[in-house]
Amino acid sequence: MATGYRSSGSSSTSPTSSGPLSPPFRRRKSPVENKTTKAVIKKVSHSTRKDATAEKKVGRRRGPLRPDQRQQAHEIRKLRACLRCKFLKKTCDKGEPCGGCRPSHARLWQVPCTRMDIKDISYFMKDWKADYERHISLGFSVGNIKGFSTMERTLYVTHGYGHYLPINAREVFVRDEKCFGVDWVESDHETPRSFEINTAKLSAGMEGVSTALLSEYLDRHLDNGFEAFVDDYFEGTKFLTEILKTAYRYYLKEKTPSVRKALKLVLAYNLTLHVTMVEGLSEEEQFIGKVEDTESKFAGKTFAPVMINFQVKCALADMWRELQKDILEELSSLYSSVYSGDKLKNWPTIFMLAAILLAIWEEMQFDCHYRTPDEKAVKKFCEDMETTPVGVIVGLFQAISTKLPGLQEWDTRKHHQLLGSNPAVCDALTEVRGHVNKYESYLKERSSAKFDRDDFDCLSNKFLSKLVIRAN
Ligand SMILES: [Zn+2]
Ligand SMILES: [Zn+2]
Repeated sequence: MATGYRSSGSSSTSPTSSGPLSPPFRRRKSPVENKTTKAVIKKVSHSTRKDATAEKKVGRRRGPLRPDQRQQAHEIRKLRACLRCKFLKKTCDKGEPCGGCRPSHARLWQVPCTRMDIKDISYFMKDWKADYERHISLGFSVGNIKGFSTMERTLYVTHGYGHYLPINAREVFVRDEKCFGVDWVESDHETPRSFEINTAKLSAGMEGVSTALLSEYLDRHLDNGFEAFVDDYFEGTKFLTEILKTAYRYYLKEKTPSVRKALKLVLAYNLTLHVTMVEGLSEEEQFIGKVEDTESKFAGKTFAPVMINFQVKCALADMWRELQKDILEELSSLYSSVYSGDKLKNWPTIFMLAAILLAIWEEMQFDCHYRTPDEKAVKKFCEDMETTPVGVIVGLFQAISTKLPGLQEWDTRKHHQLLGSNPAVCDALTEVRGHVNKYESYLKERSSAKFDRDDFDCLSNKFLSKLVIRAN
């Protein structure tokens, strides 16, 4: 794989310097960092949690139930019907899998029998912190911080794509100054190369990182230069790069809010793992954190103070979790609409959301392998993700696609009526057909992809390929 390495993508920073192997001592949590994290979480967690009142009514019945039927209905309600029985409005039972999901009944239904709602399907990442945890270190501990300056001023943090996030910063006084180092890895060298540097002694001010400003900052990436971001960040990763750009062009035409959210999720997730740079430092300060190594793609840039970098990271980590939650809720209600009469109306949106979600989950698997030293935990995370959640997302999509041609066979002239003759949908599917056919043999082998620390694309398209290549 000569090209297609992603670089700043998996670049990472950490307050203590050492290679990308993340030795375990990093993982010690300090009270200060926990506080920071919690404060930010609180700000965003006011989300729109729909309550469980939206449960589907099952079947149609005349007259009261017999006592034994009533008892059974009660038990199933307590247990919840599985996804198949819920969507197809069948009576579920207590079996695992239930009677309806046994192979003899469900040849066309390749979804794992689960009683979980789609909106809860990200349960496997409940305690997952590999996207930011590595950065918590001894240096940030309460014991090391002597105090903060009361003077605050505005700095401009950037991930290097032409947009800036204003942050109020203040000087921090510490006992051990080793904690201001940052290290990162760049993959666009013959083998990934690591760099390190010291950064300014600054922290975000009293108010922390503003969720509203951060959200606007991401919006600017979406509205201005998103395709350039994809090209620069993913460095030409096969198929994934093309599919993201197709989704973006589809969004520009249709302005579907949930597709926008999904694209924002791509930004928020990837920027969480990204190094940050800064502008607005005083003349003397900007030499601290300035990359002098001309081998680095960041040569001449000034890295953000490591504490601010971490604070931005935590805020982004919260933000992508919120976005993912919204997208899963959206998918849940879109699937319900498919089975209550809307049929293929929402199919294009479901396709875009499912594709982006799977693309993010592949990255998560890579990042988990790359950053988590505990192999058992990595294995559990990946297995939990693959057994039910990936199966549900892929299986449900296949189940609603049986009336459509495979993506490789899409022909707008022949098939446009199936999807309401929508030109944006037809254009997007024509593009997707091109991408799938271009990479057909590559995509067919992706399901057996294995982790390789030196290949930042080793797990790319592992799940996405299952979505776009029909299994039969
Ligand atoms: Zn069932
Ligand atoms: Zn079932």
